[in-house]
Amino acid sequence: MNMSFAANCKAEICRIFPSKKCCAVAQCFGILLFCNNFSSSVIRIFTESREFASFLPKLFKKAFSITFDLVPSEDTQGKLIFQIFDPVKINIIMNTYGFNPDNTLALHINFSAIEDDCCRAAFLRGAMLAGGSVSDPAKSYHMEISTTHSFVAREARVLMWEDLGFYPKIATRGGGQVLYLKQSDQISDLLTYLGAPIAAMGIMEAKLEKELNNKVNRRCNCDDANTSKVVEAAQEQLSAIRVLKEQGRLDRLPQKLQQAAIAREQHPEASLTELAALMEPPISKPAMNHRLKKLVESAKEAAL
Ligand SMILES: [Zn+2]
Repeated sequence: MNMSFAANCKAEICRIFPSKKCCAVAQCFGILLFCNNFSSSVIRIFTESREFASFLPKLFKKAFSITFDLVPSEDTQGKLIFQIFDPVKINIIMNTYGFNPDNTLALHINFSAIEDDCCRAAFLRGAMLAGGSVSDPAKSYHMEISTTHSFVAREARVLMWEDLGFYPKIATRGGGQVLYLKQSDQISDLLTYLGAPIAAMGIMEAKLEKELNNKVNRRCNCDDANTSKVVEAAQEQLSAIRVLKEQGRLDRLPQKLQQAAIAREQHPEASLTELAALMEPPISKPAMNHRLKKLVESAKEAAL
């Protein structure tokens, strides 16, 4: 199966299983605050990542010694759903983060649960796994995590901004909040921070490739523009020479100009440098340019 960039990225993040309980609790916190539903009545986590699906039960076991009440069956396709609805289990989880299960209307990030650096990274890994996405860098630079809790979005932004040096913006989408990054450097740095250096490398490589392509394109466009200018100038000179000939005036022009006219007629596609070399004696490119301009001017005078 051809996995998307985002799916590969999540698979990579799942390779790091927290060794300390504090980090497991913090990672679950990120998952819960950025998952489909975290309330006193139900915990519901959606994912399409097989790696995350096999990671999730182990993580909850390590953090809370709790199992899910509903897990997707082995042969489920597409969206995988994990649920906890046992009030006793939900109570244990809520209490872990200092929440009162009777009042979960406005959830916040409890910063005491993510005090250590190790836990902060684990928290954001959880947020990315449950509510995050990253676009294929060949198409666009976009990385986001979304939550249904508006305080959480703002607090996560402060955490990323002040503690970690990432500068996500916030947008509202479908009743939820989306924290997103659009700069390739920030996205690759954040992926590295989350423990996905291969995905981060993918962003940097895509950027290099784009820059290289742009450079090549610019050069091609520039060459085209020059070529068409040269062709236009040559055509103007040829038609001037024709006019001068038809009106019998070419023979009356100075010898140098006649010589230039013959050279242009015989070599319609030659560059100025090439024509200049054909003159006897050879002359400089600006001098050649001057002679051809004189021819064009003379033709215009004759037309009057
Ligand atoms: Zn920790």
